[in-house]
Amino acid sequence: MPDTNCHPNPIPGLRTLKAIDFELAYLALLTSEGLKPLSRWEKPLDERSLESLRRMDMVTKQIRRTVKTGSDVIETVFSRSPAYIDLYEKRFENTAVDKSAETQRFEGFLFGYPPCCIEQYIIEPYARNNLPEHEQKLLFHWACSNCAVTPLLLPAYERVYNRLNIIE
Ligand SMILES: [Zn+2]
Repeated sequence: MPDTNCHPNPIPGLRTLKAIDFELAYLALLTSEGLKPLSRWEKPLDERSLESLRRMDMVTKQIRRTVKTGSDVIETVFSRSPAYIDLYEKRFENTAVDKSAETQRFEGFLFGYPPCCIEQYIIEPYARNNLPEHEQKLLFHWACSNCAVTPLLLPAYERVYNRLNIIE
């Protein structure tokens, strides 16, 4: 008989998000745990999903952007911190989606990426690193080679991932 005390209390909203999309739920849990200051889902979300994020003590905002073709896209950002939502909104609302080094640095800062990994990615995206594939897959940033920060993050990310996996 499993010891039910080992199981964390179900987080309101998380089960709903997991049913919609596992990756969305993983991002939401990483962010509500404070491992990521802010996260972005590159699509609009319906009211039910937004409510689920809010039930995890986060603030949400839909941000309008434009792409090269001229069409609008709606992104959803969420964070425990209204100030980070505000930073994102002020910088990116009604702007074109871009991949400049400056943008990658600011996004990386907001998303909780190690600065060394951001700089390496700007020079050469997906440069060879020494992480096993299953560890790289837990992350949203591409680890730089011999990263000094990522190995410290991985156990925390793995705990969140495993916790989400046991939720039905
Ligand atoms: Zn690094």
